[in-house]
Amino acid sequence: MTQTNPSASPADLAGWQALANQLAFENRAYLNGDYQPASGGETFPCISPLDGRELTRVASCNQADADLAVAAAREAFDSGVWSRLAPTQRKAVLQRFADLIDAHGDELALLETLDMGKPIAHARTVDVPATARAIRWTAEAIDKVYGELAATPHDQIGMISREPIGVVAAIVPWNFPMIMAAWKIAPALATGNSVVLKPSEKSPLSAIRLAALAHEAGIPAGVFNVLPGFGHTVGKALALHMDVDCLVFTGSTNVAKQLMIYAGQSNMKRVWLEAGGKSPNIVFADAPDLKKAAAEAASAIAFNQGEVCTAGSRLLVENSIRAEFIGLIREALTTWRPGHPLDPGTTCGAIVDQAQLDRIIEYIGIGQAEGATLVEGGQRVMQDTGGLFVQPTVFDGVSNGMRIASEEIFGPVLSVIGFDTAEEAVAIANDSIYGLAAAVWTSNINTAHKVAKALRAGSVWINHYDGGDMTAPFGGFKQSGNGRDKSLHAFDKYTELKATWLLIE
Ligand code: NAD
Repeated sequence: MTQTNPSASPADLAGWQALANQLAFENRAYLNGDYQPASGGETFPCISPLDGRELTRVASCNQADADLAVAAAREAFDSGVWSRLAPTQRKAVLQRFADLIDAHGDELALLETLDMGKPIAHARTVDVPATARAIRWTAEAIDKVYGELAATPHDQIGMISREPIGVVAAIVPWNFPMIMAAWKIAPALATGNSVVLKPSEKSPLSAIRLAALAHEAGIPAGVFNVLPGFGHTVGKALALHMDVDCLVFTGSTNVAKQLMIYAGQSNMKRVWLEAGGKSPNIVFADAPDLKKAAAEAASAIAFNQGEVCTAGSRLLVENSIRAEFIGLIREALTTWRPGHPLDPGTTCGAIVDQAQLDRIIEYIGIGQAEGATLVEGGQRVMQDTGGLFVQPTVFDGVSNGMRIASEEIFGPVLSVIGFDTAEEAVAIANDSIYGLAAAVWTSNINTAHKVAKALRAGSVWINHYDGGDMTAPFGGFKQSGNGRDKSLHAFDKYTELKATWLLIE
């Protein structure tokens, strides 16, 4: 299904449904340039959270597949078929890859929506273009990055160069399946590495499809492999593999910690982790536009059903405006009611699977048991569809020590915490094991900068929420991870620094 003109996308639910009915799901692993079943012949069901329908059964890869994929990746790397291409040549191939992603925008958006439940409007206008942009931006950058010369005595030359690291295993989550994959594979491939991608077992379809587009763009066999399957089988096999040079990961903090152990138990592979968050969104009484702040606070917890690592899940509001602000948020949340994910008017889709829905409902119960006041939502809805939907939910009267304020829920559940001074707000904001993102809303430039500097977070937004672009690095302080995705800084993860020293005779 190709489509070069995005404005030709279906305009309504019936149109998207019709397109979905024509979709054929590729469900095999992509290994050494071919689609193939898992070597053990095992499969797992791919269930749509829209209606509980089994979309297909997907290859469930294991240790043997990991061994085959890593061997193919190593052989391709050593052959130089990709690793020794000139940067301009790799750039051209990756630009074609990005073009193909754009050209298959409707199909890829549908795979994302059917597989993990996000609204089709967001899959089409956020996930697809952001995936293509990540690959295109990185490709365009790769022939503009230079090496260095050391400050040597004049009879010596010290050359400092970056070399691809070798075989990269990328393990990614289900909330933005293609974007998270692109943030890894784009810099890994641009710098000349071979890649084995393991998508989440909850959302494998788009990654499997991307493999064919990468092949069509000209990425040689063995350079890009996709192994669907579970974390404890193929994920663990890759993380423990003695011939994987670098492991990059986006997912939960618990799994991230486990991957560090696996690296230590195996070959000390480099491990770069993007993990969880519990991000504070701090609203002062002098915020320039309270209505806008409330609209963005609502979006910060409801967009992608709250299944966002940077979700603004702790809303810190100056006590003098708390009641008024909660009223504004409740009003803003009326535009985030759950609806059919294939309806282009829907803003809040389905929760990825039953386990995640159960987790969200359990946390709503925990919040009530902890004594927080439920002021909005709190219910599972649309059960008659067979799908997994929950109302965006707001708790007031939350203290930062409550579990709903300290633990990552990964759903649309907002904890509102009051404060009286900037010092108190910063102390509450930083009182977390996480440090992924934070926002501050104020008209006072001194407060804005004082608070922004004091916040222990990898991204800080002033008077907006969730800004960013490929031009800026993304990642976390503390247990939100290490290393950075996006921007030129991402290249650091996928290259080794080499110092070559020459004495001039
Ligand atoms: P998860 O940690 O459960 O799974 C992530 C990936 O790791 C999946 O592919 C899974 O199969 C794999 N995995 C699980 N156990 C493994 C093991 N023992 N060995 C190897 N691989 C294993 O996370 P999730 O539920 O898919 O995603 C949600 C989490 O991701 C949240 O914590 C969220 O904050 C985080 N996230 C972080 C960022 C970021 O950039 N910091 C972005 C998106 C999501």
